[in-house]
Amino acid sequence: MSFQFDHRSLADEMEIFFLNEEIGAGLPVWLPNGVAIRDSLEAFIRRQENKYGYQRVVSPHLGKASLYERSGHLRAFEANMYPPLKGIDDSNDYYLKPMNCPHHHKIFSALPRSYRQLPLRLAEYGQVYRFENSGSLKGLSRVRGLCQNDAHIYLDPKDAKAEILSVLELHEHCYQQIGLKGYRYRLSKSDPDRPNDFDGAVQNWQQCEQILRECLMEKNLSYVEAIGEAAFYGPKIDVQIKMSHGVEESISSVQLDFNSGEKFDLHFVSDSGAAKSPWIIHRAPLGSHERFVALLLEYFDGVLPGWLAPIQLYLLPIGDDAVKYANDIAHRLVERNIRVHVDQNAGSLSKRILFAHRLRPFSKLVIGEKEISSGKFILQCRQGDKSLEMSQIEEFLAANVLVPG
Ligand SMILES: [Zn+2]
Repeated sequence: MSFQFDHRSLADEMEIFFLNEEIGAGLPVWLPNGVAIRDSLEAFIRRQENKYGYQRVVSPHLGKASLYERSGHLRAFEANMYPPLKGIDDSNDYYLKPMNCPHHHKIFSALPRSYRQLPLRLAEYGQVYRFENSGSLKGLSRVRGLCQNDAHIYLDPKDAKAEILSVLELHEHCYQQIGLKGYRYRLSKSDPDRPNDFDGAVQNWQQCEQILRECLMEKNLSYVEAIGEAAFYGPKIDVQIKMSHGVEESISSVQLDFNSGEKFDLHFVSDSGAAKSPWIIHRAPLGSHERFVALLLEYFDGVLPGWLAPIQLYLLPIGDDAVKYANDIAHRLVERNIRVHVDQNAGSLSKRILFAHRLRPFSKLVIGEKEISSGKFILQCRQGDKSLEMSQIEEFLAANVLVPG
């Protein structure tokens, strides 16, 4: 697969999102076609995560300075955070959250926890804000506001390897279902020459790096090792893919965090009855909606798999009777969760077809008098033209656009 296309021009044609000076740099606003993709991705990953035992949570978009002092973000990540909101209370500034982790740690400690509940997998499509340099902002791929397919898994350290293997399996399953290929793995480690940038004892770093290495080897995944690319709280496995501009970027990462449990004073009652601090896995197979949709648009040149296509059936009625007929079909298919658009444009059919092409629907149907009287329709779709009756069109679409993979 080559990556020659820029998601920004594709997204303009397909009406996915826009940016607006008055709203603010790097803050994309999603249009209905973009939200259709987001919603499909969310529904898909929820089903997968449910199977793997995740529970869903919701946390606010901001937090106090003391929260980010404790997490270490104000020390290690402040340059990437929006400036503080002042004057809300006397003792603390507030920050827009740059990551969901500290909030999730608070959810862990909000209730008593026992080893029987672990691994505890808390998932949220969480909105975060990062103050990226204005020069680096780019469409959806580099933004200041993003919504992450986030989750934090709290576990007994002895279960880390088994859970990392399960998380890697979830990643592979997702990419296979979506149709992504050609990604590779990177084991991102600390840098012993920069101890101040990486929290915790050297032997803990080595132990966690070795666990990640063993997981990659056990699953027979080819990978490279990179010194100094770890998160400040632990090593990680990055999933890398080459983007349109030729640069390799991370789609997602699986981080093994042995620091935050102690920093946040998190405890669970272990099987021996003693209080123990959990390790935490941070993971986001679908990254953020912003970056992932940019990647999908470029990867598929806008021709998304049927279940992700913002418009799954584009109806082109010719004449007033056909408009009514098309609206009736649309109504029926929408009830079956199929995304239908009825074209109401004036002008020649060839112009209307050309306009439809920009939106890259999964399938198109021209409806005129002949089609209505005969009950036979030519469905133009990615799998070639098909001559079908209306009831067969419904069946065909249901089979091809509702299920991933
Ligand atoms: Zn996290």
